[in-house]
Amino acid sequence: MQQVHVRLLDTSGHAVHNGLAMQNLTELTKNDLEAFVADDLKLPRFRTEQIWQWLWQKRVRAIDGMTNLSKPLREKLAGVACITWPKIVTVQKSKDGTIKFLLSLNDGKLIETVLIPMQDRYSQCLSTQVGCAMACTFCSTGKLGFERNLTYGEIMGQILVGRQYLEDHDMNPLKNLVFMGMGEPLLNLDILIKVLTDLPCERGLSLSWRRSVVSTVGFPDKLKILGDLEVALPAISLHAPTQELRARIMPKAAKVHLNDLMAAIKAYPMRQRERITFEYLLLKDVNDSMEQADQLARLVDRKKGKINLIAYNATEGMPYGAPDRDKVEAFEKRLWDHGLTAFIRRSMGADIKAACGQLKAENQS
Ligand code: SAH
Repeated sequence: MQQVHVRLLDTSGHAVHNGLAMQNLTELTKNDLEAFVADDLKLPRFRTEQIWQWLWQKRVRAIDGMTNLSKPLREKLAGVACITWPKIVTVQKSKDGTIKFLLSLNDGKLIETVLIPMQDRYSQCLSTQVGCAMACTFCSTGKLGFERNLTYGEIMGQILVGRQYLEDHDMNPLKNLVFMGMGEPLLNLDILIKVLTDLPCERGLSLSWRRSVVSTVGFPDKLKILGDLEVALPAISLHAPTQELRARIMPKAAKVHLNDLMAAIKAYPMRQRERITFEYLLLKDVNDSMEQADQLARLVDRKKGKINLIAYNATEGMPYGAPDRDKVEAFEKRLWDHGLTAFIRRSMGADIKAACGQLKAENQS
């Protein structure tokens, strides 16, 4: 068999075959795959489109399944490359239809991803890091600390797992993505941008980035990069209406002063009728008073912003309680009274601990 020189494009995700490092094809962006096909495999350009389609649209798990490639070509490719997906460790289904996966990566690290049912489709909540460096005091992932960034293939691979599961079970299609799982997406920005860039590829995942939301505690310089690229809409994890309270419950995130964060959001380029979402996690007796609703209303631009209220999912060992239902409703009403758009986000999957980091935290304890 002809030897092919393989350029190592990423140190992760390589299996070794006959002493040669194998290129995990799911780690290659569309551009990387193009270079790999042309420079390393010395194949014509149209092969990129074929291989890309097999990987992302048809979701083959083995190179031999790429049946519009000749047998010798498949053999050549299989000699230097492999296809690796994150492995499913557990699948948990909630009564409300939420499906949560615990996935293991090549180095044994665990992450989670969640499929959330919407009317006629699913939305998938994706992780971007193993653990998280932000250490927000209410968040289970924050408690685990930061381990490492996810690679391109590990983020995209979560979508492959989600889509395959939905197809295998004849369920509604996956159309929306939220980068709201484990980790802080903007601290893995280079990879995030590569993922967002490749999502809409027609012969690939065909997911519109207009239906992708990146949830972040907010970094002005990184928001500027994301905004200039026009590849996603952000949701800002605000959780407090004042700098002082935010510094108390999100000490690392609040190193960016609230005024600077709000200025960055004001400058974020948006099309008409588009709005930036502010996430506000209601913690009992911490940030759920009427006065705090008034402060929040003064902070958020009613034309450019909308507020997602999330009732805290109480977690054992965390110093917070779930807010009373009537307080959550009163808080929402107060925001509407100020002319703001606010919704209480359905808390999904509470029975399977689908809140950020909960399942993994449990598996590790
Ligand atoms: N780091 C990013 C994305 C991950 S967190 C960010 O902070 O936005 C995604 C969301 O889950 C955040 O809004 C966070 O506040 C919320 N969350 C964390 N723990 C939760 C819990 N126990 N109950 C409900 N929501 C939680």
